[in-house]
Formats: sequence, structure tokens, C-alpha cells
Amino acid sequence: MRYVSTRGDKSPQQFCDILLEGLAPDGGLYLPEHYPAVDAKTLSAWRKIYLEQGYADLAFEILFLYIDDIPAADLRALCRKTYTAAVFNSPEIVPLKKLDEGFYLEALSNGPTLAFKDMAMQLLGNLFEYQLARRNEVLNILGATSGDTGSAAEYAMRGKKGVRVFMTSPNGRMSPFQQAQMFSLMDENIHNIAVEGVFDDCQDIVKAVSNDLDFKRRYKIGTVNSINWARLLAQVVYYFAGYFQTPASADGGQVSFTVPSGNFGNVCAGHVARMMGLPIAQLVVATNENDVLDEFFRTGVYRVRNSLDTLETSSPSMDISKASNFERFVFDLVGRDAALTSDLFGRQLSTQGYFDLSAHPAFVEAATRYGFASGKSTHANRLQTIRDTSDRFDVVIDTHTADGVKVAREHLLAGVPMLVLETALPIKFAATIEQALGRPPERPPGFDGIEDLPKRVKLMPADVDQIKAYVVAHAG
Ligand SMILES: *Cc1c(COP(=O)(O)O)cnc(C)c1O
Repeated sequence: MRYVSTRGDKSPQQFCDILLEGLAPDGGLYLPEHYPAVDAKTLSAWRKIYLEQGYADLAFEILFLYIDDIPAADLRALCRKTYTAAVFNSPEIVPLKKLDEGFYLEALSNGPTLAFKDMAMQLLGNLFEYQLARRNEVLNILGATSGDTGSAAEYAMRGKKGVRVFMTSPNGRMSPFQQAQMFSLMDENIHNIAVEGVFDDCQDIVKAVSNDLDFKRRYKIGTVNSINWARLLAQVVYYFAGYFQTPASADGGQVSFTVPSGNFGNVCAGHVARMMGLPIAQLVVATNENDVLDEFFRTGVYRVRNSLDTLETSSPSMDISKASNFERFVFDLVGRDAALTSDLFGRQLSTQGYFDLSAHPAFVEAATRYGFASGKSTHANRLQTIRDTSDRFDVVIDTHTADGVKVAREHLLAGVPMLVLETALPIKFAATIEQALGRPPERPPGFDGIEDLPKRVKLMPADVDQIKAYVVAHAG
């Protein structure tokens, strides 16, 4: 399998060439040059593999179609090392929870940090370690986080040979639970840097360092952001695994998915699964008040927000000003026209801050040919949905999942099961759960008292040079 850039660069790249990379050199995102097609026979063979051998072997079957520069036996071993019942707390890895008839939650947040980002990040940690050892290289990951991404990255990379993590976060801005999750890690290769500033300051520092190409090369600086293709690919697997757990899959019937969305990484993996041939009727994009994506699917206008127009909500992991993976879908939508994609995401977004595809003949195909639909949920909807789900089904859901459940109910099709992706556990967003239910969410076993553990964190001013000096002093 070769990979191409959404902006036209066609210099041949294999999976391992782009594994440690972010953007393509032309500023585009990498996609496989085609999506391998899965026929009904393969689908039923994969169903059997998932149900009888487990998630790890299903992951291998799917990943192997996209990766031909890792020997099959090694890739299978990496999948089996990653997706274990011990790490993800159930033999199914992503068990379905039935709420109503034909209405399910797919649990993606039973990994080490209790959010779905573990699903991809845990694999990435093992892939990085494997690839760095093969090349005899090291990598210093520099990141910025306001919550879920940073902790998922740290838990994936902790103790990995050849990898160090320098994770900046805005001092005092994360929930006490999230701070405890990250700062209680004592691994030598994990460095928490609490920056005196807000999340944007952290992001600016990471950008400034990444733009210093000399420094970046010299100190082997890398990132783990959501545009990484390997992360997206890992997420394709759980769309298949979710499907195989429904009765509909026994005879090739269709299902729909609703995906609480921010950077469009999660739902883009659903798009890839559908392009491969997974019988998905609809892919429903659920947003919170930051409704950039809902606006696009309703109107054809993609209008990025500036940071002042980006609201702080009670589903904070969906608080985005632009959806960094969206370019991948638009590239497919416009028939893989790289010149047009480049004009839309390069020239038009930078000069006018939006683009308008409403008059493009392909826009209607977002719904008709690609199965996309969308909806929006607000703080009041979230509280109401958390309450309602608790009252009717005795299940407590987190705020992001609540956005999904609310929007999913508006898109039910007769006879088509709906799977809502559960993207985090409620304990991570305890304050809003208390507001909705008048009581705190349950704490999963193993997380009692984590707020009281010793913390390992370095407080630093929002100063690029000081942070560079810290990285230099501790780099691998
Ligand atoms: C990251 C995240 C999302 C958004 O996922 P995208 O891939 O950015 O669309 C939704 N919910 C939770 C809990 C998250 O951590």
C-alpha cells in the first residue's frame, strides 16, 4: 500500500515512512492511495475471527491490508501485545451495551486513561517502539494537551524504549482527575510540564519548536497529534468489531454509527470502514456548541472559528475551532481532486476563513453517497440526556457520549441498529455528572484516591527558550 497527500504530493510513501510524521511536505494529510475492498465472504470470515479469536486478530487482518513494510508475524504480535483484556478490561475490548431495542453504546473507553484515545494510542506506543528499534533511532515527543490526548499519549509511551514524552499543559486548567492521571506517572521517560498560561500558549510553544527545523532534526522532535494516519487506521478496527457484535451482522445487514466529534479523527475512521465495504447506513456526526462540522453538513459551508469564538463547554474534548482531520474526507468527497483540496484548505481558509461547497455537485453526495448526517447538542441537552439515560436504563454516560446519544435519537432509521460510540467514562467529567444527577459518577476500580498520589510535574513559564532548554537537558 502506498500513501498520497491530500494536496497532491505523490512521492511514494509506505506505512512506516509516515508512521512518525505529521503533515505531508506539501501541507496535506496522508491517505492510502485506495481503500482495500472487503467482500461479504471476507466480512463473515472477519466476524468469525473477532468472535472466536478476539479483537487483536481482527485488528491484524485490517491493519495488514494497509501495512506492507512490517512482516506479518511482527504485526500480529504487536496487535496481540496491544489489545489485551488486561489493558482494556474486557475480553471484547469494545463491548456493546444495549440501551433500547436496536440502540447501543459501543464502549471505547475502558483503556488505561478511560477515553477512546487509548484505542489508537496504545497501538501507536508499540509501533513506535518497534520502528525506532529497527532503525536504531530515538524520538522525543513534544505535545500540548488540555486533557485526554496528553494522558493517552503518556500511558501509551511510558517505559517504551527510545521514546521520551514532553507534555505541556496549562497549569491548573485540567480537572483534578486528569491532572492526577498524568502527574502521578513516575516513569523516567515521561516529562510533565505545567505551563503558566492557557492551552493556546502550550500549542504555540509546540508550534514554535516544530517550526525550528534545525532544532527539530537535531533533537529528534516528534508529535502524536490526531492527524497521524496510524492513529486513524487503528480506529477503523472498532467499527468492524462493533458491527460484528450486532445481530444484524449475522446476515450482512446494515447498522449506523453516531460519533461525538471534534477533530473528525474518530468519524473519519468510520468513513474509511464504510469505504472498505462495512455495511454502514449512516455516519452521524455529533457536535457540541462548537458546531463547525454540523454547519458544514447542513449547509456546505466550512467556516473555521478563531479562538475567541471557540466556546468552553462541558464536553471539552470536542471544543475545536477547526477539525484537523476534515481535509481527508473532503478530499474523497470531491473525487480526490488534490488541486481543489489544496485550494480549499490552503488558499481559501487562509485568505477568507471559510470555503463554500454548497454549489459543488459532490456536496449532496456527503449524505447520499457517503452516508453522512449531523446534529448538535448543548449543555442543557447534555444534562437532560445524562439524566434520561440514567433514569431509563440505569446507565451513567459521560458528557461527550451524551452529545452522541442526543443526536443519534434524531437520526434513527426503521430497522437499522444505531451504535453510539462511548468516547469517555463519566468519572473524567465528574462535575457535570453531579450537576445532572445530583451525585458523583462511579469511580472504576484502581482509580481510588489517585488525586492523593505523589506528583511529578515541572512548572515553567510560557517561554519557548526555557522549554527548549528543558527538552535538551532531558532528551534521549
Ligand atoms: C478526542 C475526543 C473526542 C473527539 O474525537 P475526534 O477524533 O477529535 O473527533 C470526543 N470525545 C472524547 C472524550 C475525546 O477525548
